[in-house]
Amino acid sequence: MKRISNQKPILNLIRERGPISRTEVIRILQMRPGTALESIEELRQKGLIEEAGKAKSTGGRRPVLLKLIPEARFAIGLHLRKRDTVLVVVDLQAGIVYEDKVKNRFKDKKTLLGYISKNLDKIFRATKISTNRILGVGLAIPGLVDREKGICLFSTYYSWWKDIALRKPLEKKFHLPISLENDTKSLTLAERWFGRGKERDNFLYLDLGEGIGLGIFLNGEIHEGKGAAGEFGHTTIDLNGPLCRCGKRGCLETFVSTTVLKRKAERAFNRNISLPEMLRLAEKRERKTLQILERAGKYLAIGIGNLINLFNPGLIIIGGPLSQFGNFLLEPMRQNLSSQVLKRPLEDVTIVSTQLGEDAGVRGAASLILKKFFQ
Ligand SMILES: [Zn+2]
Repeated sequence: MKRISNQKPILNLIRERGPISRTEVIRILQMRPGTALESIEELRQKGLIEEAGKAKSTGGRRPVLLKLIPEARFAIGLHLRKRDTVLVVVDLQAGIVYEDKVKNRFKDKKTLLGYISKNLDKIFRATKISTNRILGVGLAIPGLVDREKGICLFSTYYSWWKDIALRKPLEKKFHLPISLENDTKSLTLAERWFGRGKERDNFLYLDLGEGIGLGIFLNGEIHEGKGAAGEFGHTTIDLNGPLCRCGKRGCLETFVSTTVLKRKAERAFNRNISLPEMLRLAEKRERKTLQILERAGKYLAIGIGNLINLFNPGLIIIGGPLSQFGNFLLEPMRQNLSSQVLKRPLEDVTIVSTQLGEDAGVRGAASLILKKFFQ
């Protein structure tokens, strides 16, 4: 057991800083040289690392460098979204080696399990990677999950989506570890691994879409609460506001969401307007579109202002479909922040849009598995 606990930090260091010499590994991790060298040899025999040339001369003997072999193991990620599912296989450096998007075809608990199994089989067939090189499958789920038990508790998308055990049946069928996570939290994890939250131990991630999800990354970990932390979209902004789908009035997402923006645009233009079209209109400085975005930005400032006062975060990352509006939404939000936030926490915070693409959620799902392997 002790040996394994030595191997993980070494492997993780080589992943982050490699190519790197044995001497550097020993120095950075402050390990006993004998123990470290033994673990390094074991990692080499497992085929996880290899020697990769020599370092540049600094006078003495040039040390041999070690690097990770990315294709030694793989992790699978699935992101179940409202209409489709994104699938990826990533290597140990989180590089994508396979990616696919399929239409959702399930209508109840039973067909959901069949659908996931069928798509996993498809991945195994297409990639021909033997299962002993696959570390596991991470699932990003649009709703509440019980991570410990591997159960989907609830989703606002489907009425039948209640207490669905996914992990046990899938582990039994595929003999692979299965991890479940809420999709907003998977996106937060993706920001931490590949995005603007890289190397940050404290930041907030906002998923602005049909609803508003909040990922709270505190002290190097995702904050879970009792499991449902982050229902930011249902914080009350206006007691007498519009009725929300949750049954309350004036929730933040009754002012800022894809649905609300589209409805406002439809009213303003008397026809259906898609989000990309709204963006094009905003770029042409069309007045009614800018007004809609300004109003949404103003309400968003109230919500984000509360978050800043509460958490004093150094960084807030804005993602989800509404992040495509960039400064058309964020500028009016910023302008209204000063009236919502105390001076000190406002000075500390930077608010940015995500740089990750549509596959961020699924990469986050796969990184659930990588995280366990390296940490
Ligand atoms: Zn609500």
